Amino acid sequence: MTATQTAAGPGPGDSPVGTSPIGAGLISVELSGTPRSADERAALMADPGFGRVHTDHMVAVRWTADAGWHDAKLTAYRPLELDPSAMVLHYGQAIFEGLKAYRQPDGGVAVFRAEENAKRFNRSAHRLAMPELPVELFTAAVDALVATDREWVPSAEGQSLYLRPFMIATEAQVGMRPAQEYLFLLIAFPVTPFFPGEVKPVTVWLSDEYVRAAVGGTGEAKCAGNYAGSLLAQRQAAEKGCDQVVWLDAVERRWVEEMGGMNLFFVLDGGKRLLTPALTGTLLPGVVRDSLLALAPELGFTVEEGRLSKEEWRKGCEDGSISEVFACGTAAVLAPVGRARSASGDWTVGDGSAGEVTMRLRGALLDLQYGRAADPFGWMRRIV
Ligand SMILES: *Cc1c(COP(=O)(O)O)cnc(C)c1O
Repeated sequence: MTATQTAAGPGPGDSPVGTSPIGAGLISVELSGTPRSADERAALMADPGFGRVHTDHMVAVRWTADAGWHDAKLTAYRPLELDPSAMVLHYGQAIFEGLKAYRQPDGGVAVFRAEENAKRFNRSAHRLAMPELPVELFTAAVDALVATDREWVPSAEGQSLYLRPFMIATEAQVGMRPAQEYLFLLIAFPVTPFFPGEVKPVTVWLSDEYVRAAVGGTGEAKCAGNYAGSLLAQRQAAEKGCDQVVWLDAVERRWVEEMGGMNLFFVLDGGKRLLTPALTGTLLPGVVRDSLLALAPELGFTVEEGRLSKEEWRKGCEDGSISEVFACGTAAVLAPVGRARSASGDWTVGDGSAGEVTMRLRGALLDLQYGRAADPFGWMRRIV
């Protein structure tokens, strides 16, 4: 299958409502192995945690310099066979995405802004000198996997199906250059990121020793290496009694960038204004961040992309001009930040509990995703 052929398939915007055929005909189905029984599935889904319980199937698509994208298959979930010389194991050409499918009130399933993840995946691919995947093929893979594993989409409140698309360099040779062979994979996990009615604020550590990204680096790309480079700072945060690390800019170690794998928002002016760090090239442009920038004005908030220093954060909390801080991302949706800790001192955000604005925005986004509220932006796409 070449890019030209896949581009001729039905586009993701063609049927915002309704059911797509499996993978829009772009993915061949090659089922072997036995899916787990309904009883086994129910037992696993009773407490899936996050990313521990995978569904029965996966999608795999190969790329070679000669043939482009080809051999797109939906198969049983199974281990990979990888040559020890596979370039990803040596030079880290690996990118990933994260998106979710949600059970709808009528029992159907819809996915949130998959095209945005497909586009970001391609920006990440470009940055790591990897081949771009046609958006239609990305969304066809999502459709095929979600439709096939629809029983794995939880119905319990707050749960969803987390989709993990990723791409690795599979060419077997250890000479240093961009690989000539890649594998795209899509796997899925039923997840419980939170318990309804219990949103626990996180305590954050402002890291001034380690940095996540510098201008010109890979901070904007969702590449595996960014996470490898963050683990030591995350461990340090835990040693300081914090749940998450907050990254500051690499140059002055002063401007707030993001938190772990989530973007940050500050609530100002008595709860009327939202400020989020601008995309300077070092932050990951989150889909949830982008969604809140569109959704919040509909709810009467002013939104602004700008910059905020760690000193301003502290002072704002002390004089009350910053009433709430929250982090946002696909996995945890919205997480309130209750306390901040840094080498120069600690402070509490508001009264340390989940704030009203945070909970209102969180509720509005979840209502849209679970189909309980209107979808004025056309963000949800029905799969089954
Ligand atoms: C994925 C990610 C986010 C959040 O992105 P969403 O698309 O909103 O899930 C934020 N920061 C980092 C570093 C990330 O990897």
